[in-house]
Amino acid sequence: MTSTPSTRIKVLYIAGAGRSGSTVLCNLLGQIDGFFSCGELYNLYRTPPDQRYCGCGKLVSQCEVWDAILRRTLGDDYGRQTARALQLRNQIARSRYALLWAAPFLRAWAVEKAREYLTLTGQLYRHIADVTQSRVIVDSSKVSSYGQLLAQIPGIDLRLVFLVRDARAVAYSWQRKKLKPSPEGRTHIRTASPARGALSWVGHNVATEMLIGSARVPHLRIQYEEFAASPRRVVERIAQFAGESAPLPGLDGNVVEMQVHHTVGGNPDRFRTGPVTLKPDDEWQFKMKPLDRAITTLLTWPLLLRYGYRL
Ligand SMILES: [Zn+2]
Repeated sequence: MTSTPSTRIKVLYIAGAGRSGSTVLCNLLGQIDGFFSCGELYNLYRTPPDQRYCGCGKLVSQCEVWDAILRRTLGDDYGRQTARALQLRNQIARSRYALLWAAPFLRAWAVEKAREYLTLTGQLYRHIADVTQSRVIVDSSKVSSYGQLLAQIPGIDLRLVFLVRDARAVAYSWQRKKLKPSPEGRTHIRTASPARGALSWVGHNVATEMLIGSARVPHLRIQYEEFAASPRRVVERIAQFAGESAPLPGLDGNVVEMQVHHTVGGNPDRFRTGPVTLKPDDEWQFKMKPLDRAITTLLTWPLLLRYGYRL
């Protein structure tokens, strides 16, 4: 498979730790003309299409956008093929393979092991671009090993947006209960203790740094706090980084008129439409228990300092 720069699909890949605000950033970028927000595409096959919700509110199998994409990628019986696609993904793209992808002497072996999944994934992004008529696909998967894998696909022009957020805010967010819709009714998204949230933050950020160091793809580091305070400035910087300059519609100061987005994974915020006010979420500074804050700071301080946060 050979691809010239003009035929390669631009993928803006949001990397970093979970609970860093990537869902809102992904959807906001998706509102730029020619951009498409797919959410966490890594999770597309994790549940069957008749059990996974699209951001538009329909099941993936009933969403006209994803039905068309999946028919082209997996065939008309895609509902039965997703199990095989998930199996291929799990063989090589999970977080546990981050070190394997980052080691240059193992890369050739990993590429060979991932060959079928690489081909399938390249076709998936191509079909997303074709069906949605977009130039840039914004993917908030964040999983670094999956980012490493995307960097190996010749048809993809991968650009990495490294989203960082204060670890204390992330650990606090992990403690919050949030609802998510599912076919069985409304359930809560996962919660975690501050220590677990902090270690997850360290692990994902270190893995992202390994991705930047080894995959050698263009990258841009963004602080969530700056994005929440000045969304237009940050989104324009990211668009420029993607080599695009189209204006961002629906943003008035810090209030965004959130459109419907066909995202297949991510935080429940992906279902929100209408006016959404973006503001730095600093509740943790007043409500986080001192012990939880101390534990989180102790576990994360070297990286907090590296990313410009005060202890
Ligand atoms: Zn949809």
